[in-house]
Amino acid sequence: MSTVTERDDQYIAGRFVPTHASRRISIVDPTTGERIASVPDGDGADVHDAVAAAREALPAWRETSGAERAAHLRALADAFDVRRDEMAALVTAQNGSPAWFSNVVNGRAPVRSYRESADAADALEVEEVVEDQGGATLLRREPLGVVGVIVPWNAPQGLLASRVGPALAAGCTVVVKPSPEVALADYALAEILDDAGLPPGVVNIVVGGRETGAALIRHPGTDKISFTGSTAAGRDVAAACGQALKPISAELGGKSAAIVLRDAELETVAAAVVPQCIPNSGQVCYSLTRILAPVERFADIVNVLTATLAAAPVGDPADAETIFGPLVTDRQRARVEEYIASGVAEGARVVFGGRRPDEHRAGWFVEPTVFVDVDPTMRIFREEIFGPVLTVVPYDSEDAAIDLANDSTYGLSGAVFSADVEHATAVARRLQTGRILLNARGATRLMAGYKDSGLGREGGAVTVSSYQQVKGISQPR
Ligand code: NAD
Repeated sequence: MSTVTERDDQYIAGRFVPTHASRRISIVDPTTGERIASVPDGDGADVHDAVAAAREALPAWRETSGAERAAHLRALADAFDVRRDEMAALVTAQNGSPAWFSNVVNGRAPVRSYRESADAADALEVEEVVEDQGGATLLRREPLGVVGVIVPWNAPQGLLASRVGPALAAGCTVVVKPSPEVALADYALAEILDDAGLPPGVVNIVVGGRETGAALIRHPGTDKISFTGSTAAGRDVAAACGQALKPISAELGGKSAAIVLRDAELETVAAAVVPQCIPNSGQVCYSLTRILAPVERFADIVNVLTATLAAAPVGDPADAETIFGPLVTDRQRARVEEYIASGVAEGARVVFGGRRPDEHRAGWFVEPTVFVDVDPTMRIFREEIFGPVLTVVPYDSEDAAIDLANDSTYGLSGAVFSADVEHATAVARRLQTGRILLNARGATRLMAGYKDSGLGREGGAVTVSSYQQVKGISQPR
């Protein structure tokens, strides 16, 4: 019989302290459906204590030099690196991310992020004098203050590191509100922060649900909110920040398109299906779930998709061979199944998957699913499903493909497949989305939300300036 981990504490001012919360949230292993832990649903008093600790730590932290903060961030990267496999496995046990994915986003990516933020802290130019017609001004970049960081459960440690790292590099202190579904990893992160010798109060972690997040946003002691999550929640968060005139960066949902051009190599498309189209069973913001195929190659492209998925093992996410694990919760599975049913009801046709796999009855599994006969007005083409569901739509001209790709309220990610990179780049220039991969290769770290996909930019060291404010001091002669 498995043991249940009971946590009744929060990580505040460098210590694990008893929570004030009366409510608890259960964590269920999505592979087995068994309850594995209970964590606090942090309340306003927990949030208040964490913000107070961050405020107390702020004056000393903001006075450290960039080089000193870089040294702290390198120590944090090193301490995380020691436990990175354990962290990845811990997240997998809670959210069902397959090991191949979790090892990257919850293992290697956080280490890289903390190191990149260290480099950015080293390179910080705090002051510069600019001259214009009116004379000289000393521009001074100062940390915004205490930052509330709210992240979802799907790639939690990578997302967290790419927000916390730049905030610390800028000289801010932080209160993290992680997603309760994966909170055991955040308790382990607190130990890592200790191992790294980060000064108490510089990073605090309050575990809880959306009310905890709302309390963090409302608290007058937070100076900026970095929010990552759904567009619906992002609107509420942005409204609350607007009311308080509090800066916000928000990375939100997506429904991204992959345009397969006429000259694309099918092997390149095949190689992208799992890592870019439905990684983590489609529970990734940048998933390319709208595949746009030239009409004369439509059948070939559908065959490539279905053959790739047929060869991808579904099963225990801890197994290195597994490509598709379960969905995070039974609620998420119900949502995905409702979308699949809506697609069928609206007249689309399932050519692969669409059911619960027979051999995995216990957990929250849904087969990877491919729809054809999809009309662009259908919900499965327009709404973010956040599950392993692909739609394939034919196009007859490149202009039509670009129009289809842009026909979305979202604008998070995208891809263009072509044997001719210059041609693909020309198509990418016309896409209304913030991050575009050509042939699904190479890297663009920036998560850039156009339209309903976000406000501002997140994604690593280039965003340090979004945790700063600029002061101008005149320099009379
Ligand atoms: P969610 O919006 O329900 O929750 C995200 C986080 O916000 C959680 O920690 C949650 O407790 C908190 N929260 C929710 N409502 C809140 C509110 N009103 N006030 C304060 N806090 C609140 O999203 P989710 O289901 O956990 O995650 C999936 C969503 O996140 C998808 O839409 C996905 O596209 C998006 N996402 C975006 C990115 C990106 O970089 N653009 C990355 C990962 C996930």
